[in-house]
Amino acid sequence: MNQYDYIILGSGIAGLYTALLARGQGSVLILTKAGINDCNTRHAQGGIAAAIGIGDSAELHYQDTIAAGAGLCDIDAVRILVDEAPDRIADLINFGVHFDTVDGEVALTREAAHSVPRILHAGGDATGEHIEVTLSRMARLANIVILEYCLATEIIVDDDVVQGVRALDSRTGAMEEFRSRSVILATGGGGRLFKFTTNPDIATGDGVALAYDAGAEITDMEFFQFHPTALRLPGVTPFLISEAVRGEGGILRNAEGRQFMFDYTPDGDLAPRDIVARGILTEMKKTGSDRVFLDVTHLPPRRVTARFPHIYRFCLVNGLDITKSFIPVAPAAHYTMGGVRTNAWGETNIAGLFAAGETACTGVHGANRLASNSLLEVVVFAKRIMQRTTEGRRPPDAGEGEHFSLSEGKALGSIPALSLSAFESLMWDKVGIVRSGEGLAEAAAILASWQKTIEKPSDRPSYELANLVLVGRLMAEAALIREESRGAHFRSDFPEPSPDWLRHIVFKKAD
Ligand SMILES: Cc1cc2nc3c(=O)[nH]c(=O)nc-3n(C[C@H](O)[C@H](O)[C@H](O)COP(=O)(O)OP(=O)(O)OC[C@H]3O[C@@H](n4cnc5c(N)ncnc54)[C@H](O)[C@@H]3O)c2cc1C
Repeated sequence: MNQYDYIILGSGIAGLYTALLARGQGSVLILTKAGINDCNTRHAQGGIAAAIGIGDSAELHYQDTIAAGAGLCDIDAVRILVDEAPDRIADLINFGVHFDTVDGEVALTREAAHSVPRILHAGGDATGEHIEVTLSRMARLANIVILEYCLATEIIVDDDVVQGVRALDSRTGAMEEFRSRSVILATGGGGRLFKFTTNPDIATGDGVALAYDAGAEITDMEFFQFHPTALRLPGVTPFLISEAVRGEGGILRNAEGRQFMFDYTPDGDLAPRDIVARGILTEMKKTGSDRVFLDVTHLPPRRVTARFPHIYRFCLVNGLDITKSFIPVAPAAHYTMGGVRTNAWGETNIAGLFAAGETACTGVHGANRLASNSLLEVVVFAKRIMQRTTEGRRPPDAGEGEHFSLSEGKALGSIPALSLSAFESLMWDKVGIVRSGEGLAEAAAILASWQKTIEKPSDRPSYELANLVLVGRLMAEAALIREESRGAHFRSDFPEPSPDWLRHIVFKKAD
């Protein structure tokens, strides 16, 4: 029987945690498009934020989150995030996640733009892997049906009420229908929109594309976070060098070996990600290099290897001993702040359709995410989804924001042929770290043309490419509409924030 009480799309922390909470409430199906542990979660290094340390408080965590969000955080959602954090950490510990300790106390580190040490970590810099492996092991043991290599291709909606999903079994090519009154999108972010990214192959923004096609509201798509420090070694994927490395004393140096971040901001190496990413880009241009360096050679080698075993081993395998040599780094696409708009209970504007994790936009990140708030956001709001589904259906609240439709785009002489690499390069060059009206208009027009002419998808790669083009379009058009710079969105033609733009851009497919 293909009828379930809960259908959950995705098996990262959002999908697994929600499934583990849901199993006590009814039958649960997880559909996931690759292997169970193929997700962003497994790659998370730094940790998860919660105000549990001496000298910290929910109020301080609130202030840091609001400051990073540059005027666009939903203040009620942020209150929920910081207030409910300690209880959700306790839940993870009860599920069997072992956070690192020092002298019997949970060890806390500091990351950029946090005013105090408040990041819990596991296995040093393998926090995501510990969480993912622990939760997936529990899910396999629980009474949860898990279908791997099953790609959701459509959310079935009737009269603004969710009915279920269609999915492609990519191993057999069969298309199947699954029915439920509660569908939870937990499909993660869209780092694969860009040529250089810290995200794995699965991160193609599917949840946003599925939800948009189903009639859900999509918001804040112009806000995408680029991580300043991804490894830049020839032939090696841009592996993340965690912010925590700078938190522990790592120093950014340009190609000439000079420390430079204090030239850009008094916060130096610990400034928010967008400032550091732009500082690095400027230095790369100035020195004519495609990288800068992160230096930890002044730190005691044992501290580096104990605190960052994962990073140390990855670099060593690729011929670099980071205790002796500088680490070559450059910015890379990292985290999707925008997404499927939800209220404080994870509800979208479609009854029965919920979104959790990176695919959702709960409003806690505003224009820029504070490091290590994303794993926390997942567990806080996934819990609230379960609280809401057990209370019965109610009409979702209307959110604030200005509604837009996708435009046709300006006419262009010639349009390049669509391929994954042409798409990723277009996004990196025109919708990346530094944007301009001209570049965004060109990108929007090319993307609109590609979307019109793209062939009907038939397998996982073609569905993913179609999703990427749609999500890229939503991002390019939102970035074009927002004529200012704020948080992670930087326009060279409008370099300052504008008080007129203290509002959200919302897209909804025309009926
Ligand atoms: C390198 C790296 C380091 C990070 N470090 C940190 C950190 O230290 N702290 C922090 O808070 N955050 C960190 N983040 C961000 C954080 O890891 C993610 O935001 C979080 O893990 C997202 O969880 P999720 O469950 O929403 O998505 P994911 O973990 O990405 O899971 C998405 C799931 O959905 C599945 N899926 C996608 N599309 C479909 C479809 N169409 N049909 C079926 N299944 C589908 C995928 O296969 C996958 O199972 C990091 C991210 C990266 C990439």
